[in-house]
Amino acid sequence: MNNILYKVHDNLYVNLTNRCPCACTFCLRQTMDRVGESDSLWLREEPDFETVAAEFGRFDMDAFREVVFCGFGEPTERLDLLLRVAKYVKETWGKPVRINTNGLGALINGRDIAPELEGLADTVSISLNTPDKDAYLKLVRPKFGEQSFDAMLSFAKECVRYVPNVVLTTVDTTLTKEQEARCAELCRAIGAKYRIRAWEG
Ligand code: SF4
Repeated sequence: MNNILYKVHDNLYVNLTNRCPCACTFCLRQTMDRVGESDSLWLREEPDFETVAAEFGRFDMDAFREVVFCGFGEPTERLDLLLRVAKYVKETWGKPVRINTNGLGALINGRDIAPELEGLADTVSISLNTPDKDAYLKLVRPKFGEQSFDAMLSFAKECVRYVPNVVLTTVDTTLTKEQEARCAELCRAIGAKYRIRAWEG
């Protein structure tokens, strides 16, 4: 088992990398080895396109609603492979594609990556976590430092131009109602949806 593809409910998740520029205080990687029906999301080595494509052959793709790029790492760390696999999924099975991201892909890749997602991602789900820049830094601990919060928001804003469904998320029970209202306002200003997701810890 290579831990590249794993089922979560009726979706198929794609785990391309264990690299991430953040060290979130709440990261599941600190306390768990697996999510959904995976054995372990720690990769022995990062897969290439051929390996990922071969893994898809092990699954009945009709059984899945959506293909989601999300694993024990930040998927935009492997943007070229992500885009190639998303294209393969769309051309072969016509499945909707979602990218779950920390929103720092522009900093990781050194360029605005949102235009590259056009036609390949149906949904981009970005971890907002908090409406406060200072709290974000303490919670997410990104290696890019202070610029990260604004970079994440501008990535979200850019995505709205190229991706049909852009969602910013926070985790239920971690914020006050007032903070959640500020998150909703940030999302409204950007043109993205706001979703409060269930705590998974
Ligand atoms: S961005 Fe995701 S993978 Fe990276 S440290 Fe935070 S929770 Fe973990």
